[in-house]
Amino acid sequence: MTRLAPFSVCVYCGSRAGDDPAFMHQAALLGAGLAERGMRLIYGAGDVGLMGAVADAAMAAGGQTLGVIPKHLQAREVGKPGLTTYIATETMHERKKVMFMNADAVVALPGGPGTLDELFEALTWRQLGLHETPIYCVNIGGYWDPMLALMDHLAERGFCETSFIDFLTTVPDVPALLDRLDARLAA
Ligand code: AMP
Repeated sequence: MTRLAPFSVCVYCGSRAGDDPAFMHQAALLGAGLAERGMRLIYGAGDVGLMGAVADAAMAAGGQTLGVIPKHLQAREVGKPGLTTYIATETMHERKKVMFMNADAVVALPGGPGTLDELFEALTWRQLGLHETPIYCVNIGGYWDPMLALMDHLAERGFCETSFIDFLTTVPDVPALLDRLDARLAA
């Protein structure tokens, strides 16, 4: 199949750095790893926290970047200059739609409420059969363990099928994620 755009990975992650330096370090590994593979980074166009770290590393390694940010967040999340493509949307919903519709894979690094919102939208839409985009969770230092336990709880208590949990592929770190993406691209 001929691609119109490079294999594109949508990264959801914190607009803050979190409490463990490993989060920023792994975010940078991801940006560089995508660039080295010729994969395009899609993200929320911010220059703060893990978002800024993943984009800085992708740009430093000469990678392609697509940033999508709503106009009302450009000051707060510091819309990043120098991205290959920078799209300013009117709304959060447009932002999420543009990010997702251009993605061949979706990845959640550690993050906060915004990251959860984006990840669960991808998961619930997958559950509804609206897409087949693979969804990865990078569980650095067990950061996402409470969320994974909550998902088990939802199934145990009869509020979702166990297949819902299977839609999320959990990997321990960015090198393991990059192996998965390599395999996906080769398939
Ligand atoms: P956070 O993980 O809370 O630091 O947010 C990471 C990114 O998710 C930021 O760019 C937020 O603007 C974005 N985001 C997406 N959807 C939402 C939402 N419903 N509420 C808050 N932030 C969101």
